[in-house]
Amino acid sequence: MEKICNDRIELIKGDITTLDVDVIVNAANNSLLGGGGVDRAIHKAAGPDLYSECLELDGCKTGEAKITKGYKLKARHIIHTVGPVWHGGKNSETDLLASCYQSSLKLAKKNNLKTIAFPGISTGMYGFPKDLAALIAYNESKRFLKNNPVPEKVIFVAFDDESYEIYRKLLNR
Ligand code: ADP
Repeated sequence: MEKICNDRIELIKGDITTLDVDVIVNAANNSLLGGGGVDRAIHKAAGPDLYSECLELDGCKTGEAKITKGYKLKARHIIHTVGPVWHGGKNSETDLLASCYQSSLKLAKKNNLKTIAFPGISTGMYGFPKDLAALIAYNESKRFLKNNPVPEKVIFVAFDDESYEIYRKLLNR
């Protein structure tokens, strides 16, 4: 896997479901009962017990986050956050996406999870512009890390070359 390290922020290209970290973040939908993209890949890799636990959670609001166990994943936990659907930027999309990162990082801190990996929330089917989404992900993570010792490390997982380049430029600034 390609990899860049920058103090407590790391970038890798690949499949988030394979990572051996304390927690991976899922780009879920409001039902928390599975969808497409990374959500489907995570449910498939974690197995049916994840679905059973998600049934008990009563969904999740956009911009918020809930935690489950990781089941068959190497990752010990999954934080499910619901990103905004991009409607052109005038419906608080940027604030809601920032809130996804803040809520997820807060939950990781509360559960003393030291390594957390994020996919590009909202940048697939939800249509959020990838460069703006990466800037929000980077700024929110950097701010949180500055003010908190845990998580110790944030890993951005780029699934395609375009996303990897966008994050690489941010990390190398
Ligand atoms: P959303 O509905 O929030 O847009 P998607 O799952 O459609 O969520 O896409 C979110 C991002 O996750 C996209 O950039 C997509 O390329 C990426 N992605 C899809 N599968 C994986 C995976 N297995 N590992 C990491 N990232 C993934």
